[in-house]
Amino acid sequence: MDTCGGITMANFINVILPIPLEKSFTYSITEEEAALLQPGMRVAVPFGKSKIYTGLVQSIHNNPPEVYEAKEIHELLDDYPIVNLTQLKHWEWIASYYMCTLGEVVRSALPSAFLLESETLVLRNTEYEIDENELLDDEFLVFEALQHQSILKVQEVSAIIERKNVLPILQRLLEKKVIVIKEEVYEQYKPKLVRFVKLGAEHTTDEKLEELLKSLTRAPKQSQVVLSLFQLQGKSQNPIKVSELEASSNTSKAVIKSLVDKGILEEYFIKTDRVSYDGDPDNSDTKELNEYQEAALVDIKSSFDEGKVTLLKGVTSSGKTEVYVKLIEECLEKGLQVLYLLPEIALTTQLIGRLQEYFGERIAIYHSKYNVQERVEVWQNVLQAKPKAQLVIGARSAMYLPFNRLGLVIVDEEHESSFKQFDPAPRYHARDAAIVLGHLHKANILLGSATPSVESYYNVQTGKYGYAEITRRYGNVLMPEMELVDIKEASRKRKMKGHFSERLFMEMEETLKEGAQIILFQNRRGFAPLMECLTCGHTPQCPNCDVSLTYHQYRNQLRCHYCGHHTALPEICFACGSPDLDTKGFGTEQIEKEVSGLFPEAKVGRMDLDTTRGKHGYEKIITAFEQQELDILVGTQMLTKGLDFRNVNLVGVMNADSLLNFPDYRAHERTYQLLTQVSGRAGRTKKRGRVVIQTYNPYHQILKQVTTSDYEGMYTEQLYEREQFKYPPVNRIIKVTFKHKNYNVLNEAADWFAGALRTNFGDTVLGPEYPPVARIRNQYLKHIVIKVRKVHSLAQTKANIRRIEKSFKAVAMYRSVRVIYNVDHI
Ligand code: ADP
Ligand code: ZN
Ligand code: ZN
Repeated sequence: MDTCGGITMANFINVILPIPLEKSFTYSITEEEAALLQPGMRVAVPFGKSKIYTGLVQSIHNNPPEVYEAKEIHELLDDYPIVNLTQLKHWEWIASYYMCTLGEVVRSALPSAFLLESETLVLRNTEYEIDENELLDDEFLVFEALQHQSILKVQEVSAIIERKNVLPILQRLLEKKVIVIKEEVYEQYKPKLVRFVKLGAEHTTDEKLEELLKSLTRAPKQSQVVLSLFQLQGKSQNPIKVSELEASSNTSKAVIKSLVDKGILEEYFIKTDRVSYDGDPDNSDTKELNEYQEAALVDIKSSFDEGKVTLLKGVTSSGKTEVYVKLIEECLEKGLQVLYLLPEIALTTQLIGRLQEYFGERIAIYHSKYNVQERVEVWQNVLQAKPKAQLVIGARSAMYLPFNRLGLVIVDEEHESSFKQFDPAPRYHARDAAIVLGHLHKANILLGSATPSVESYYNVQTGKYGYAEITRRYGNVLMPEMELVDIKEASRKRKMKGHFSERLFMEMEETLKEGAQIILFQNRRGFAPLMECLTCGHTPQCPNCDVSLTYHQYRNQLRCHYCGHHTALPEICFACGSPDLDTKGFGTEQIEKEVSGLFPEAKVGRMDLDTTRGKHGYEKIITAFEQQELDILVGTQMLTKGLDFRNVNLVGVMNADSLLNFPDYRAHERTYQLLTQVSGRAGRTKKRGRVVIQTYNPYHQILKQVTTSDYEGMYTEQLYEREQFKYPPVNRIIKVTFKHKNYNVLNEAADWFAGALRTNFGDTVLGPEYPPVARIRNQYLKHIVIKVRKVHSLAQTKANIRRIEKSFKAVAMYRSVRVIYNVDHI
């Protein structure tokens, strides 16, 4: 051991590699490196025969590893820690609670640009002009190589420049914007401004217009634009977009621009992130709260004073956001950081626009789908506690950021299940993990929802969480009027037009007549879920998964929603050759088509995974609906998420039963939440909105609770059932999934595991069972669910499960079976 003036020098470090290893790996370091290294810095290290990884320094010590000889690190990658100690603590908690490795957490937490490794693919950054003189020799070599070959593996780069340690060079090239690393498509958030045009004020009278047109006789294109604009303005009151005018006058942007330059046309912009409210849109002061909001704010603060996580339950459109805004304001004034978590960022451009009005530059947005460069930038800004990243808004991955002065955590729409990461590990619940993070920072924590999850409300009832509520919509707007329509009865009496009951049809007619908009909710995309042979009853199945293919009319295809497999629509039955094929069930696409048939005058749009795939897919549809270019919007549950439309007076739910019948202990809770949320989109301004829910079970308890806004009733009943069947929140559950390509191996393995679990935990173990879709991508699946009683230690239970897994993996035949844990599975 090296000693230096009696002080023992640390000459080893533990490094967390971003791969599923049970333990961190020990490497040896030089004295020089020891003087520079700190936990939370990155190092490039060799691993296995030829791999290079970026790892994170966990600790520095002088204990050599016992069973292997420590290798040397290749190089230091940072001058200062990019991950702080609180993060490391938090990530250790995530790994241990959600039963995964710390490496998996690191991989999920750090932007991929921070984790270059030998397998990373690099490309030239074509968005920047590179000044070759600014490149060092070895950097230039890489740059040059990328002129000849568009993609290089890090390993190949290593061969080109004849060096092992290429990660620092690539890191520099990333910083100089010479290269980018290959990753999935990303979306970028931009507050969107739509450009509109109108005729300049002095030309609006008929005479002036005539004069103007005369003066333009030598410029036929320009005069065409003016005429088109005049016609468009005559047709509708809506603002006219530049793109619209361009299309209808059959000219170019340049012609329009020249008219703008001459002052004949006037340009103006409307921020489409948000529809302006009836106030001064340029006023960046936060709004004054009404008495209900004020009372909620007081309750929240006093609960914060007790150090409690607090739940704010406020009906849809009660103005929860404005309450958050007050809390954010106070926190920022103290110089502390705020984390604002949302279930899905793509759907919340509206909200971001609103917050930007108040907090402007201080907002940073963080989302795993953003481009790496931006993510790294936000990371650095948060790390350095820069003013421009004081309020971080993001989806679940934002809770990984290097906060050091976090003062407030807000989890909006806390009931949303998309806060739970499903694949890959860590399978964390961002709400719960953010609460732990908040505690580590001693920050205030607020959860908000109109329809809180049963578990959060339970925590309120048991005194663990504080509580505040707002029971009225802002501006005394009434809650929408809800009506259940029995479609069984309607079908019997032949009072259905396709999938529309007479009631719904009439309401739609009425609403359109009034010039208001309609939302139709159907919980399935595609045209019809199934195609069925009328002769033999055969339904085409996915060859890779145990599930029927879904019919998509738009592409004329059958598609698998699990693996993406698709085939052209068959003309005859695969099984018997009969041409009599029919579709069964219905999805958004078919509803859209039926609506167009029933209301040929109306403009109909659709919002589901299929129509929102593109880069700005969501925004385009939401904007079109906001701008009232569409009268009717048909959509899946994407529609439910916090959208604030001003002119929607009717919400129609096509069929509530598919939600109720979902095989899951949360199906009823979810149905309540979904229907209440989608109903909340109706009548958010003065006029009372209407909601029509079509169902085969109009007497179903949950539907009654939805129509009477009886959250308490729903909660009490659901909690009773959870208690009866020992589900959360009364117990915790851990779901274990087994995956293997061989059916027999899988069955045997799952049985073995279940047997061992039963010996330990008795009848709290359910399964193994096949999930509804028992084979996906040619892998068979089986589940076991373990209900962990509150009296038992969760940590002990997990340790026992791990022990069982060890013996399991010792059986040669089971070694290739994948075992996946999902703690608090939802
Ligand atoms: P929630 O998030 O509870 O559904 P929002 O925060 O979206 O409700 O508020 C609904 C509407 O009421 C928004 O258009 C918002 O601008 C408006 N609003 C809420 N509170 C106020 C207030 N105190 N002053 C003025 N307008 C408000
Ligand atoms: Zn499939
Ligand atoms: Zn057939």
